[in-house]
Amino acid sequence: MRIAIDLDGVVFQFIDTYLQFINETHKLNISREQAKGIHFIRNFGFTEKQDKQLMREFCYHGKFRDLPLIPGALYNIRKLIYESKHDVIYITSRDPEAVEDTFVALFNLGLNGEVHFSDKINRKAHLIETLECDVMIEDRWDYLKEVKERNPEVTAILFNYEDQLEPLDDWRPDHYVTDWSEIYYILQTA
Ligand SMILES: [Mg+2]
Repeated sequence: MRIAIDLDGVVFQFIDTYLQFINETHKLNISREQAKGIHFIRNFGFTEKQDKQLMREFCYHGKFRDLPLIPGALYNIRKLIYESKHDVIYITSRDPEAVEDTFVALFNLGLNGEVHFSDKINRKAHLIETLECDVMIEDRWDYLKEVKERNPEVTAILFNYEDQLEPLDDWRPDHYVTDWSEIYYILQTA
């Protein structure tokens, strides 16, 4: 099987490091509970442009080079690659400024598969189609819904470890998991 894996919130713990960074650099005091949703920063007086600028600053500070791993991610991805012989690729919507650090981080972990970067034109749903993936593991409900709508045959696994992104009321994924061992089990029995 060809398995597409999102990076932030699935392989790497993102939100705690990002929150710490913006709190420190902009003298804010946003709590984890207040940091719900993709654009939570806009609830604190930041514009869309400033929101994007904060992410660029996070990139420029090299923060994507050494984000902490989600427990079990490395162990289970390696098992998928080397024991189960699945074809694993990574699809992320990280900014272009994060490309080099993304490759460095994955290389340092020994996760040297294909990496694809999505954006507003090259959407994840489109990449999943052109790359002929069978499975998508993702923590954003809106992305995964779009993937599934465009590619109904793809197994959509919603991975909610960070519990930061808002669920959709009108749509359910094929699988909803909070732990990497659950993902491994699903893919073994698929
Ligand atoms: Mg993500």
